[in-house]
Amino acid sequence: MTESDRIRRPILALASALALLAAPAVQAQDTAPALDQAEFRSCLHGLKGTQAFRAISSVTFAEHTDALEPDPSVLVLLNRQPEFTMPVWDYLAVLVDEERVADGRAALAKWQPALQRIEQQTGVAANVIVGVWGVESNFGQNLGGRPLMQSLATLSCFGRRQAYFRGEFAAALRILQEGHVPAEKLTGSWAGAFGQTQFMPSTFFRSAVDFDGDGRRDIVDNVPDALASTAKFLQNAGYRRGELWGFEVRLPAGFDSSGAGRKNKQAIEQWRRAGLTLADGSPLPDSLPSAGLMIPARGGPAFLVGRNFDTLYSYNASENYGLAIAHLSNLVSQPSGAIGFATAWPTDDPGLSRAQNRELQVLLLARGHDIGSADGMIGARTREAIKAEQQQLGMKADGRAGQKLLAALRER
Ligand code: CA
Repeated sequence: MTESDRIRRPILALASALALLAAPAVQAQDTAPALDQAEFRSCLHGLKGTQAFRAISSVTFAEHTDALEPDPSVLVLLNRQPEFTMPVWDYLAVLVDEERVADGRAALAKWQPALQRIEQQTGVAANVIVGVWGVESNFGQNLGGRPLMQSLATLSCFGRRQAYFRGEFAAALRILQEGHVPAEKLTGSWAGAFGQTQFMPSTFFRSAVDFDGDGRRDIVDNVPDALASTAKFLQNAGYRRGELWGFEVRLPAGFDSSGAGRKNKQAIEQWRRAGLTLADGSPLPDSLPSAGLMIPARGGPAFLVGRNFDTLYSYNASENYGLAIAHLSNLVSQPSGAIGFATAWPTDDPGLSRAQNRELQVLLLARGHDIGSADGMIGARTREAIKAEQQQLGMKADGRAGQKLLAALRER
Protein backbone atom coordinates (compact mmCIF):
# COMPACT_ATOMS: atom_id res chain seq x y z
CA MET A 1 0.00 0.00 0.00
CA THR A 2 1.40 3.36 -0.97
CA GLU A 3 1.42 6.24 1.45
CA SER A 4 -1.30 8.09 -0.45
CA ASP A 5 -3.62 5.13 0.02
CA ARG A 6 -3.29 5.26 3.77
CA ILE A 7 -6.12 6.55 5.85
CA ARG A 8 -4.87 9.36 8.01
CA ARG A 9 -6.31 8.72 11.40
CA PRO A 10 -8.27 11.50 13.08
CA ILE A 11 -6.49 12.67 16.22
CA LEU A 12 -8.86 12.09 19.11
CA ALA A 13 -7.08 14.54 21.38
CA LEU A 14 -7.68 17.18 18.76
CA ALA A 15 -11.14 15.98 17.91
CA SER A 16 -12.23 16.29 21.52
CA ALA A 17 -11.14 19.91 21.61
CA LEU A 18 -12.72 20.80 18.31
CA ALA A 19 -15.82 18.64 18.56
CA LEU A 20 -14.98 16.93 15.32
CA LEU A 21 -16.66 13.76 16.51
CA ALA A 22 -19.81 15.59 17.49
CA ALA A 23 -22.57 16.34 15.03
CA PRO A 24 -21.05 18.39 12.24
CA ALA A 25 -22.61 21.53 10.83
CA VAL A 26 -25.37 20.55 8.48
CA GLN A 27 -24.30 21.07 4.91
CA ALA A 28 -25.37 19.23 1.79
CA GLN A 29 -22.24 17.08 1.57
CA ASP A 30 -22.50 16.19 5.27
CA THR A 31 -25.86 14.49 5.05
CA ALA A 32 -25.47 10.85 6.06
CA PRO A 33 -26.51 8.49 3.27
CA ALA A 34 -29.22 5.93 3.89
CA LEU A 35 -27.61 2.49 3.96
CA ASP A 36 -29.41 -0.60 2.83
CA GLN A 37 -29.54 -3.33 5.48
CA ALA A 38 -30.01 -6.15 2.97
CA GLU A 39 -27.03 -4.95 0.94
CA PHE A 40 -25.00 -4.79 4.17
CA ARG A 41 -25.91 -8.37 5.20
CA SER A 42 -25.13 -9.64 1.74
CA CYS A 43 -21.77 -7.83 1.76
CA LEU A 44 -20.81 -9.29 5.15
CA HIS A 45 -21.85 -12.75 4.01
CA GLY A 46 -19.61 -12.37 0.97
CA LEU A 47 -16.64 -11.19 3.03
CA LYS A 48 -16.67 -14.31 5.18
CA GLY A 49 -15.39 -16.50 2.36
CA THR A 50 -12.62 -14.16 1.20
CA GLN A 51 -8.89 -14.57 1.67
CA ALA A 52 -8.62 -11.64 4.12
CA PHE A 53 -10.96 -13.43 6.55
CA ARG A 54 -9.45 -16.91 6.28
CA ALA A 55 -8.09 -16.80 9.86
CA ILE A 56 -11.51 -15.94 11.31
CA SER A 57 -13.64 -18.87 12.44
CA SER A 58 -17.33 -19.02 11.52
CA VAL A 59 -18.17 -18.85 15.21
CA THR A 60 -16.15 -15.66 15.73
CA PHE A 61 -17.53 -14.10 12.58
CA ALA A 62 -21.15 -14.85 13.50
CA GLU A 63 -20.72 -13.80 17.13
CA HIS A 64 -19.45 -10.36 16.25
CA THR A 65 -21.32 -9.57 13.03
CA ASP A 66 -24.81 -11.14 13.29
CA ALA A 67 -26.33 -8.21 15.17
CA LEU A 68 -24.45 -5.45 13.35
CA GLU A 69 -26.18 -2.59 11.62
CA PRO A 70 -24.35 -0.17 9.33
CA ASP A 71 -23.47 3.26 10.73
CA PRO A 72 -23.89 5.97 8.04
CA SER A 73 -22.14 8.61 10.15
CA VAL A 74 -18.70 7.02 9.56
CA LEU A 75 -19.09 7.65 5.83
CA VAL A 76 -19.64 11.36 6.50
CA LEU A 77 -16.42 11.43 8.52
CA LEU A 78 -14.43 9.47 5.94
CA ASN A 79 -13.60 12.60 3.95
CA ARG A 80 -13.05 14.93 6.89
CA GLN A 81 -9.47 15.40 7.99
CA PRO A 82 -9.54 18.89 9.50
CA GLU A 83 -6.08 18.76 11.05
CA PHE A 84 -4.67 18.96 7.56
CA THR A 85 -6.32 22.24 6.72
CA MET A 86 -6.02 24.08 10.05
CA PRO A 87 -3.21 26.61 10.43
CA VAL A 88 -0.33 24.88 12.17
CA TRP A 89 -0.49 27.37 15.07
CA ASP A 90 -4.12 26.46 15.81
CA TYR A 91 -3.28 22.77 15.64
CA LEU A 92 -0.38 23.09 18.09
CA ALA A 93 -2.23 25.49 20.43
CA VAL A 94 -4.72 22.74 21.22
CA LEU A 95 -2.40 19.72 21.13
CA VAL A 96 0.47 21.26 23.08
CA ASP A 97 -1.07 23.42 25.79
CA GLU A 98 -0.24 23.94 29.49
CA GLU A 99 -2.68 21.22 30.58
CA ARG A 100 -1.25 18.58 28.30
CA VAL A 101 2.33 19.42 29.27
CA ALA A 102 1.46 19.20 32.99
CA ASP A 103 -0.42 15.91 32.43
CA GLY A 104 2.54 14.62 30.41
CA ARG A 105 5.03 15.42 33.15
CA ALA A 106 2.80 13.56 35.63
CA ALA A 107 2.47 10.59 33.25
CA LEU A 108 6.23 10.44 32.73
CA ALA A 109 6.76 10.33 36.51
CA LYS A 110 3.97 7.84 37.19
CA TRP A 111 5.00 5.30 34.56
CA GLN A 112 8.74 5.81 34.86
CA PRO A 113 9.70 2.21 35.83
CA ALA A 114 7.88 0.70 32.83
CA LEU A 115 9.03 3.49 30.50
CA GLN A 116 12.64 2.99 31.58
CA ARG A 117 12.53 -0.72 30.78
CA ILE A 118 10.78 -0.04 27.47
CA GLU A 119 13.46 2.50 26.57
CA GLN A 120 16.19 -0.03 27.42
CA GLN A 121 14.55 -2.69 25.26
CA THR A 122 13.58 -0.59 22.24
CA GLY A 123 15.79 2.48 22.34
CA VAL A 124 12.76 4.76 22.11
CA ALA A 125 13.03 7.64 24.59
CA ALA A 126 10.44 7.66 27.37
CA ASN A 127 9.44 11.28 26.75
CA VAL A 128 8.77 10.52 23.08
CA ILE A 129 6.47 7.62 23.99
CA VAL A 130 4.65 9.95 26.41
CA GLY A 131 4.38 12.56 23.64
CA VAL A 132 2.60 10.09 21.35
CA TRP A 133 0.32 9.01 24.19
CA GLY A 134 -0.65 12.61 24.99
CA VAL A 135 -1.43 13.56 21.42
CA GLU A 136 -3.23 10.32 20.57
CA SER A 137 -5.56 9.91 23.55
CA ASN A 138 -4.77 12.64 26.09
CA PHE A 139 -2.96 9.98 28.16
CA GLY A 140 -5.79 7.50 27.95
CA GLN A 141 -8.56 9.96 28.79
CA ASN A 142 -10.07 9.83 25.30
CA LEU A 143 -9.96 6.43 23.64
CA GLY A 144 -12.91 7.01 21.32
CA GLY A 145 -16.35 5.51 21.91
CA ARG A 146 -17.39 4.12 18.54
CA PRO A 147 -17.78 0.32 18.37
CA LEU A 148 -15.00 -0.86 16.06
CA MET A 149 -16.99 -3.76 14.61
CA GLN A 150 -19.79 -1.46 13.46
CA SER A 151 -17.49 1.21 12.02
CA LEU A 152 -15.18 -1.20 10.22
CA ALA A 153 -18.01 -3.36 8.89
CA THR A 154 -19.70 -0.25 7.49
CA LEU A 155 -16.50 1.03 5.90
CA SER A 156 -15.86 -2.46 4.48
CA CYS A 157 -19.17 -2.44 2.61
CA PHE A 158 -19.86 1.19 1.70
CA GLY A 159 -17.86 4.20 0.54
CA ARG A 160 -14.35 4.51 -0.81
CA ARG A 161 -11.36 2.43 0.30
CA GLN A 162 -13.38 -0.68 1.11
CA ALA A 163 -10.41 -2.96 0.37
CA TYR A 164 -8.32 -1.18 3.00
CA PHE A 165 -11.05 -1.33 5.62
CA ARG A 166 -11.77 -5.01 4.94
CA GLY A 167 -8.24 -5.82 6.00
CA GLU A 168 -8.71 -3.78 9.16
CA PHE A 169 -12.09 -5.39 9.83
CA ALA A 170 -10.55 -8.86 9.56
CA ALA A 171 -7.69 -7.87 11.87
CA ALA A 172 -10.17 -6.51 14.43
CA LEU A 173 -12.05 -9.82 14.38
CA ARG A 174 -8.77 -11.64 14.94
CA ILE A 175 -8.03 -9.45 17.98
CA LEU A 176 -11.35 -10.59 19.46
CA GLN A 177 -10.83 -14.21 18.41
CA GLU A 178 -7.46 -14.31 20.17
CA GLY A 179 -8.88 -12.63 23.27
CA HIS A 180 -6.48 -9.68 23.50
CA VAL A 181 -9.22 -7.13 24.12
CA PRO A 182 -12.80 -7.86 25.29
CA ALA A 183 -15.45 -7.07 22.65
CA GLU A 184 -17.12 -4.33 24.71
CA LYS A 185 -13.74 -2.57 25.06
CA LEU A 186 -13.01 -2.59 21.34
CA THR A 187 -14.14 0.97 20.67
CA GLY A 188 -12.27 3.84 19.09
CA SER A 189 -12.31 6.43 16.35
CA TRP A 190 -14.69 6.29 13.40
CA ALA A 191 -11.87 4.88 11.22
CA GLY A 192 -11.13 2.00 13.57
CA ALA A 193 -8.10 3.25 15.53
CA PHE A 194 -8.28 2.11 19.15
CA GLY A 195 -6.45 1.93 22.44
CA GLN A 196 -4.19 4.22 24.43
CA THR A 197 -2.19 5.22 21.36
CA GLN A 198 -4.82 4.56 18.70
CA PHE A 199 -3.48 1.66 16.66
CA MET A 200 -5.34 0.46 13.60
CA PRO A 201 -6.11 -3.28 13.97
CA SER A 202 -3.48 -4.29 11.40
CA THR A 203 -0.91 -2.14 13.23
CA PHE A 204 -1.80 -4.15 16.32
CA PHE A 205 -0.50 -7.33 14.71
CA ARG A 206 2.70 -5.65 13.54
CA SER A 207 3.55 -3.76 16.70
CA ALA A 208 1.51 -4.67 19.79
CA VAL A 209 3.52 -6.14 22.66
CA ASP A 210 2.53 -8.16 25.72
CA PHE A 211 4.78 -6.20 28.06
CA ASP A 212 3.45 -7.56 31.36
CA GLY A 213 3.53 -11.17 30.15
CA ASP A 214 -0.08 -12.16 30.87
CA GLY A 215 -0.55 -13.60 27.39
CA ARG A 216 -2.72 -10.72 26.11
CA ARG A 217 -1.63 -7.69 24.17
CA ASP A 218 -4.06 -5.30 25.80
CA ILE A 219 -3.43 -1.82 24.44
CA VAL A 220 -6.78 -0.58 25.75
CA ASP A 221 -6.70 -1.16 29.51
CA ASN A 222 -3.07 -2.08 30.15
CA VAL A 223 -0.89 1.05 30.03
CA PRO A 224 2.51 -0.75 30.03
CA ASP A 225 1.34 -3.00 27.15
CA ALA A 226 0.19 0.11 25.27
CA LEU A 227 3.37 2.12 25.89
CA ALA A 228 5.61 -0.81 24.94
CA SER A 229 3.55 -1.31 21.78
CA THR A 230 3.95 2.36 20.85
CA ALA A 231 7.71 2.05 21.31
CA LYS A 232 7.71 -1.12 19.21
CA PHE A 233 5.87 0.73 16.43
CA LEU A 234 8.49 3.50 16.44
CA GLN A 235 11.31 0.95 16.61
CA ASN A 236 9.82 -0.89 13.61
CA ALA A 237 9.67 2.46 11.81
CA GLY A 238 13.43 2.87 12.27
CA TYR A 239 13.81 4.84 15.50
CA ARG A 240 17.46 5.28 16.45
CA ARG A 241 18.50 4.93 20.08
CA GLY A 242 20.08 8.04 21.57
CA GLU A 243 19.23 10.38 18.69
CA LEU A 244 17.14 13.52 19.14
CA TRP A 245 14.12 14.02 16.87
CA GLY A 246 15.66 17.34 15.94
CA PHE A 247 15.64 20.92 17.22
CA GLU A 248 14.45 24.41 16.45
CA VAL A 249 17.00 26.41 14.50
CA ARG A 250 17.69 30.01 13.57
CA LEU A 251 18.15 30.76 9.89
CA PRO A 252 20.72 33.35 8.81
CA ALA A 253 19.42 36.60 7.29
CA GLY A 254 18.60 36.21 3.62
CA PHE A 255 18.68 32.41 3.82
CA ASP A 256 17.52 30.66 0.66
CA SER A 257 15.04 28.06 1.91
CA SER A 258 14.48 26.41 -1.45
CA GLY A 259 16.38 23.34 -0.18
CA ALA A 260 14.05 22.92 2.78
CA GLY A 261 12.11 19.71 3.29
CA ARG A 262 11.98 16.96 5.88
CA LYS A 263 13.21 14.37 3.39
CA ASN A 264 16.02 16.48 1.97
CA LYS A 265 18.56 15.47 4.61
CA GLN A 266 22.09 16.83 4.76
CA ALA A 267 24.96 16.43 7.20
CA ILE A 268 24.79 18.79 10.19
CA GLU A 269 28.15 20.21 9.12
CA GLN A 270 26.57 21.41 5.88
CA TRP A 271 23.79 23.17 7.74
CA ARG A 272 26.43 24.78 9.96
CA ARG A 273 28.27 26.00 6.91
CA ALA A 274 25.01 27.42 5.56
CA GLY A 275 24.85 29.58 8.69
CA LEU A 276 22.19 27.77 10.72
CA THR A 277 22.44 27.78 14.52
CA LEU A 278 20.26 26.57 17.35
CA ALA A 279 17.39 28.92 18.15
CA ASP A 280 19.44 30.60 20.89
CA GLY A 281 22.32 31.27 18.51
CA SER A 282 24.62 28.51 19.77
CA PRO A 283 26.26 26.09 17.30
CA LEU A 284 24.32 23.10 15.98
CA PRO A 285 25.14 19.99 18.02
CA ASP A 286 26.55 16.81 16.47
CA SER A 287 23.79 14.69 18.00
CA LEU A 288 22.13 14.12 14.62
CA PRO A 289 24.11 12.59 11.76
CA SER A 290 21.90 14.26 9.17
CA ALA A 291 18.74 16.30 9.14
CA GLY A 292 16.19 17.97 6.88
CA LEU A 293 15.04 21.55 7.30
CA MET A 294 11.34 21.81 8.10
CA ILE A 295 9.60 25.18 7.88
CA PRO A 296 5.89 24.60 8.65
CA ALA A 297 4.94 28.22 7.88
CA ARG A 298 7.06 30.73 6.00
CA GLY A 299 8.48 33.29 8.41
CA GLY A 300 7.73 31.06 11.42
CA PRO A 301 9.91 28.70 13.43
CA ALA A 302 12.27 26.40 11.51
CA PHE A 303 13.46 22.95 12.56
CA LEU A 304 16.17 20.52 11.63
CA VAL A 305 14.64 17.06 11.87
CA GLY A 306 16.32 13.66 11.72
CA ARG A 307 15.31 10.03 11.23
CA ASN A 308 13.49 9.85 14.54
CA PHE A 309 11.17 12.64 13.43
CA ASP A 310 10.36 10.48 10.41
CA THR A 311 9.20 7.71 12.75
CA LEU A 312 6.76 10.17 14.36
CA TYR A 313 5.62 11.24 10.91
CA SER A 314 4.97 7.60 10.02
CA TYR A 315 2.50 7.34 12.90
CA ASN A 316 0.04 9.56 11.06
CA ALA A 317 1.61 10.87 7.84
CA SER A 318 1.47 14.53 8.88
CA GLU A 319 4.38 16.85 9.63
CA ASN A 320 2.27 19.04 11.91
CA TYR A 321 1.26 15.94 13.82
CA GLY A 322 4.90 14.88 14.15
CA LEU A 323 5.82 18.35 15.34
CA ALA A 324 3.12 18.29 18.02
CA ILE A 325 4.50 15.02 19.43
CA ALA A 326 8.11 16.18 19.14
CA HIS A 327 7.41 19.49 20.87
CA LEU A 328 5.31 17.88 23.60
CA SER A 329 8.02 15.28 24.19
CA ASN A 330 10.59 18.03 24.76
CA LEU A 331 8.36 19.99 27.13
CA VAL A 332 7.38 17.00 29.31
CA SER A 333 11.03 16.15 29.88
CA GLN A 334 11.76 19.63 31.26
CA PRO A 335 10.60 20.68 34.74
CA SER A 336 9.36 24.04 33.45
CA GLY A 337 9.63 26.34 30.48
CA ALA A 338 7.64 28.35 27.99
CA ILE A 339 5.34 26.49 25.61
CA GLY A 340 6.15 28.57 22.56
CA PHE A 341 9.01 28.20 20.12
CA ALA A 342 11.84 30.74 20.09
CA THR A 343 10.49 32.14 16.84
CA ALA A 344 6.82 33.04 16.92
CA TRP A 345 4.34 31.78 14.32
CA PRO A 346 3.75 34.30 11.52
CA THR A 347 0.34 35.46 12.74
CA ASP A 348 -0.96 38.35 14.82
CA ASP A 349 -3.84 36.15 16.00
CA PRO A 350 -2.48 32.93 17.58
CA GLY A 351 -4.67 29.93 18.40
CA LEU A 352 -6.29 29.06 21.72
CA SER A 353 -5.45 26.40 24.27
CA ARG A 354 -8.19 24.11 25.55
CA ALA A 355 -8.52 26.28 28.69
CA GLN A 356 -8.88 29.39 26.52
CA ASN A 357 -11.49 27.63 24.38
CA ARG A 358 -13.49 27.05 27.56
CA GLU A 359 -13.04 30.67 28.64
CA LEU A 360 -14.23 31.83 25.22
CA GLN A 361 -17.32 29.67 25.57
CA VAL A 362 -18.09 31.08 29.03
CA LEU A 363 -17.93 34.58 27.52
CA LEU A 364 -20.18 33.54 24.64
CA LEU A 365 -22.71 32.04 27.08
CA ALA A 366 -22.65 35.24 29.14
CA ARG A 367 -23.50 37.17 25.98
CA GLY A 368 -26.59 35.06 25.45
CA HIS A 369 -25.42 32.57 22.84
CA ASP A 370 -27.05 29.17 23.13
CA ILE A 371 -23.96 26.98 22.76
CA GLY A 372 -24.73 24.36 25.40
CA SER A 373 -22.05 23.97 28.06
CA ALA A 374 -18.55 25.42 28.12
CA ASP A 375 -16.88 22.09 27.42
CA GLY A 376 -13.92 23.43 25.45
CA MET A 377 -15.25 21.76 22.29
CA ILE A 378 -15.54 24.22 19.43
CA GLY A 379 -18.50 22.69 17.64
CA ALA A 380 -20.98 24.04 15.12
CA ARG A 381 -22.98 26.11 17.61
CA THR A 382 -19.87 27.71 19.11
CA ARG A 383 -18.63 28.56 15.63
CA GLU A 384 -21.96 30.21 14.76
CA ALA A 385 -21.77 32.27 17.97
CA ILE A 386 -18.19 33.25 17.16
CA LYS A 387 -19.28 34.41 13.69
CA ALA A 388 -22.05 36.56 15.16
CA GLU A 389 -19.60 38.21 17.58
CA GLN A 390 -16.99 38.67 14.86
CA GLN A 391 -19.58 40.46 12.72
CA GLN A 392 -20.50 42.80 15.56
CA LEU A 393 -16.83 43.51 16.22
CA GLY A 394 -16.11 44.22 12.57
CA MET A 395 -13.77 41.22 12.36
CA LYS A 396 -13.64 38.67 9.54
CA ALA A 397 -16.57 36.36 10.33
CA ASP A 398 -14.86 33.02 9.77
CA GLY A 399 -15.93 31.26 12.98
CA ARG A 400 -12.34 30.71 14.06
CA ALA A 401 -11.53 30.80 17.77
CA GLY A 402 -8.40 32.96 18.13
CA GLN A 403 -6.64 35.22 20.62
CA LYS A 404 -7.99 38.46 19.11
CA LEU A 405 -11.60 37.44 19.55
CA LEU A 406 -10.95 36.19 23.09
CA ALA A 407 -9.26 39.48 23.99
CA ALA A 408 -12.11 41.51 22.47
CA LEU A 409 -14.77 39.57 24.36
CA ARG A 410 -12.87 39.94 27.64
CA GLU A 411 -13.07 43.73 27.16
CA ARG A 412 -16.80 43.88 26.54
CA1 CA B 1 -0.39 -8.04 28.59
